[in-house]
Amino acid sequence: MSVPKSPQTALIHSDYTAPGGFAAFPTAIHHASTVVFADVAALRSRNWQDKSAYTYGLHGTPTSFTLEARLAEIEDGRHCVLAPSGLAAIALVDFALLKSGDDVLIPENVYGPSRDLGNWLARDFGISVRYYDPLIGAGIAALIQPNTRLVWTEAPGSVSMEVPDLPAICRAAHDKGVMVALDNTWSAGIALRAFELGVDIVMQALTKYQSGGSDVLMGALITRDTTLHRKLETAHMRLGYGIGMDDAYLVLRSLPTLKLRFEAHDAGALKVASWLKSRPETDRVLHPALPDCPGHENWRRDFSGAGGLFSVVFDARYSEEQTDRFVDSLKLFKIGFSWGGSNSLAVPYRMQAMRRNWPHDGQLVRLNIGLENPDDLIADLEQGLRAL
Ligand SMILES: *Cc1c(COP(=O)(O)O)cnc(C)c1O
Repeated sequence: MSVPKSPQTALIHSDYTAPGGFAAFPTAIHHASTVVFADVAALRSRNWQDKSAYTYGLHGTPTSFTLEARLAEIEDGRHCVLAPSGLAAIALVDFALLKSGDDVLIPENVYGPSRDLGNWLARDFGISVRYYDPLIGAGIAALIQPNTRLVWTEAPGSVSMEVPDLPAICRAAHDKGVMVALDNTWSAGIALRAFELGVDIVMQALTKYQSGGSDVLMGALITRDTTLHRKLETAHMRLGYGIGMDDAYLVLRSLPTLKLRFEAHDAGALKVASWLKSRPETDRVLHPALPDCPGHENWRRDFSGAGGLFSVVFDARYSEEQTDRFVDSLKLFKIGFSWGGSNSLAVPYRMQAMRRNWPHDGQLVRLNIGLENPDDLIADLEQGLRAL
């Protein structure tokens, strides 16, 4: 008999069962390069894409199969492919779905290395890559050409924080038979039901919240459509992507607390963001749950939470030198890129150089709110503001 499982309970109760005679909660770590077959007939009949059996370490062991199943469950998807990093997962989508002569649309505010990859595809692989206004919504229809194959989205952009109108973009793309991929790292799959909004491929940098330990690099692609999953799986095999089972274990170990951690990041970040908004040194706080943030109304409609990552734009009277001094003077906030762990982080970005028509004159600093007591973080920011 089964009982209903809410997302929070499902994170804790997985379908993993330990081998007979041994009962414990953790998933076992199965390492393998080669997988042994009982006889030649078994070797000849085994299909590496069939998840009911094992063929080779690169295609997974019971440990990675369990992680794939659990990640698909969190996103309310059906299939999952694991990649050695979030960026590797993004590249896998591009290489699986695009060929010379095709066109892909990428938002202007996309994760930086993804943009660099797009420029490489355009320069050396004969793919047309165009960058669009992340707030374009249904207007994306006008950009779709007969050779457009893929629209990338990121919700929100992980530095400038615009929240796109995902349902409108998905409708416009699907009307013309074009696929939509979403970098859903910011919501961890906890605060956004991407497939319900029409997204075809969900990408997650597990490096962030799913790991939570600042100690793993891994990415995932989750889908509902089996044909699409097969395409991703085939490219994954051809490129020889693999992940380490110890790393898979670290992510599995963190999943039961994913929702509680996410909610704690969310509550802390809202408190810190609201405090920063009240300060005379700031021009605006780009936090999707606050009205200053472009696309805030899309966040209200589509999201159930916000997590720990947001940006603050300082008043234009402060120079880059001054805001750098602010970042340098922080004690609890460390300086580093990969967010989603327990530690709070701050990174300044040169938006004028990164974005065409960036509308703000003040300096931007992105904050990741960790799991520290938010009042201590506010005290740290307060002493940092004095260094301005
Ligand atoms: C970190 C990040 C990635 C890339 O993940 P890695 O595992 O570091 O390669 C992609 N997208 C977003 C939004 C990220 O924050």
